Amino acid sequence: MIKPDAVENGHVGGILDKITSAGFKIVAMKYTQLSKRDAKAFYAVHSERPFFGELVEFMTRGPIVTAIIEKENAVDDFRALIGATNPAEAAEGTIRKLYATSIGENAVHGSDSDENAAIEGDFHFAGREIY
Ligand code: GDP
Repeated sequence: MIKPDAVENGHVGGILDKITSAGFKIVAMKYTQLSKRDAKAFYAVHSERPFFGELVEFMTRGPIVTAIIEKENAVDDFRALIGATNPAEAAEGTIRKLYATSIGENAVHGSDSDENAAIEGDFHFAGREIY
């Protein structure tokens, strides 16, 4: 996902360029907005964390771009491309270093395992929307 902060700040094109230049293939993509129910379900694993309410408010405040991307070793390579959760700790040249503003408003989401990537892909897309 390209999160609401990055969409608001006009970084969709820059982020997609970083992703495709790094060798990822886009197999599904849409411009959409999460409902409160969607965001609570997507981030259910964080429901007991103190920042959960803030996270749900943030993720629902405006449109996002969501995509399924493919590559060999995609999970690890994408997490390397986006950088640390906190942009202050993200490596130079990473998407979060370039485009994120804070640990909460950190521009992009990436799945943390192949299993979760499959679950998250199904959350956003019907089979006929995946190419
Ligand atoms: P990620 O896998 O790098 O996205 O990080 P996590 O799975 O740990 O956290 C999920 C998302 O919750 C992050 O990308 C942030 O948007 C948000 N988040 C994590 N830690 C904090 C925090 O301390 N404060 C706030 N406001 N949001 C946070």
